[in-house]
Amino acid sequence: MSGTRSALVIGGGIAGPVAALALQKAGIEAVVYEAHPSTADGIGGSLAIAPNGQAALEVVGARHAAEDGSVPISRSALSFGGTEVELPHLAGLPPMRLVQRAGLYRALHDLALSRGIRVEYGKRLVAADEGPGGVTARFADGTSAGADVLVGADGIHSAVRKLIDPGAPDPGHTGVLGLEGVADHRVGREPGSLNFAFGKRAYYLYWPLPDGRTGWGANLPQDGPMTLTEAREVRPEAWARRLREIYGDDDPGGRLVRSTPADRLQAAGSLHILPHVPHWHSDRMVLVGDAVHAPSNSSGQGASLAVESAVELARCLRDLPDAPRAFAAYERLRRPRVEKVAARAAKTNTLKAPGPAARVLMPVLMRLLLRTALRPERTFGAEQRYRIDWDAPVREPEPGAGAASSAAGSGR
Ligand SMILES: Cc1cc2nc3c(=O)[nH]c(=O)nc-3n(C[C@H](O)[C@H](O)[C@H](O)COP(=O)(O)OP(=O)(O)OC[C@H]3O[C@@H](n4cnc5c(N)ncnc54)[C@H](O)[C@@H]3O)c2cc1C
Repeated sequence: MSGTRSALVIGGGIAGPVAALALQKAGIEAVVYEAHPSTADGIGGSLAIAPNGQAALEVVGARHAAEDGSVPISRSALSFGGTEVELPHLAGLPPMRLVQRAGLYRALHDLALSRGIRVEYGKRLVAADEGPGGVTARFADGTSAGADVLVGADGIHSAVRKLIDPGAPDPGHTGVLGLEGVADHRVGREPGSLNFAFGKRAYYLYWPLPDGRTGWGANLPQDGPMTLTEAREVRPEAWARRLREIYGDDDPGGRLVRSTPADRLQAAGSLHILPHVPHWHSDRMVLVGDAVHAPSNSSGQGASLAVESAVELARCLRDLPDAPRAFAAYERLRRPRVEKVAARAAKTNTLKAPGPAARVLMPVLMRLLLRTALRPERTFGAEQRYRIDWDAPVREPEPGAGAASSAAGSGR
């Protein structure tokens, strides 16, 4: 039986509202504290919600957040050097959904508010004090708030991660920048298909939109990291020039970038990957989402894993008597899964912006990538078929039992 009654959720992005909804379902009162002074409406590009992420959203009654306004992807292909290979899909699963981050965010916030969850803006966490009776969060505006536990859902540059462990790693730069656009060029396919294209100099992907235009995303090779703010300060015309240099000779990459007006370009800054995080929690503070596992965009699983972790954390807090034991069970449940996904994505990253050595090896690397993509059950089965059994009690391992049997009852 849980001894946890209240939670401070730091970060009102994607994992934050889902954590608050799941905690409420577990009987724990949660308040969300977001650093930005207002909502993030209209900000961000596209992200994927895999079948496992949709199922996790369903646990908190939020499946619609991944469906409304999304593009369901039922076919995908991989192309390189003039060859295009249709990729098999996993049988019996709903399609992956491409959503606008802004739409997903808005739907989750609206749902949280409609269930009476408080969201406070302009609350940037700067410090926290833990004690036997609870935890107090201190915000940059001089205010503070207390509860039994603090959930760090504050994204890849998490402040909570550093409060738990000042030596925690910083995110690494994948060597590419994210840019997204909507092109007037029609690629002559039905909406519902997604093409992963390895161009002559860099990787891109594109998907036909229901209105006939084509959405696309580019991974531009970039030596040093660039923040979202820095990327937005670059004039769109300069990005358009750079895109034409990199993708101009690719088909349809060249046509996509040339038929995208500069005002329809959106820069996302450097794409990051979070290295292994040694400490996921302290006695009263714990991490979820990108704050603890950001597997790089190559995984197509970032948001889905964030949502899963938020739900699983609430289950553990519901069933175990105190926060340290609940956090330990949560880590046992989640760490092996998220690290496996991150390892798979890391392999793909090498191909997206190949250095001179990788370029020579490209045909071999491509064959390896194809071999894994053509065996979807083996490569993606465990990732995408994962379902959280909300009603199953979380158990701790018997004394002396290995970690493998821990926190049983989930992830069928
Ligand atoms: C504005 C924005 C746009 C994005 N656009 C895209 C996109 O186009 N494509 C894509 O794949 N991913 C995007 N992401 C990342 C994506 O949302 C995450 O990878 C994923 O959904 C996991 O979500 P998360 O809630 O863990 O992290 P995030 O979505 O990053 O949310 C973290 C939240 O915590 C808040 N926060 C940070 N520090 C503090 C603090 N000290 N105190 C209080 N609050 C704090 C942030 O303002 C943010 O709202 C975006 C993130 C943000 C914040």
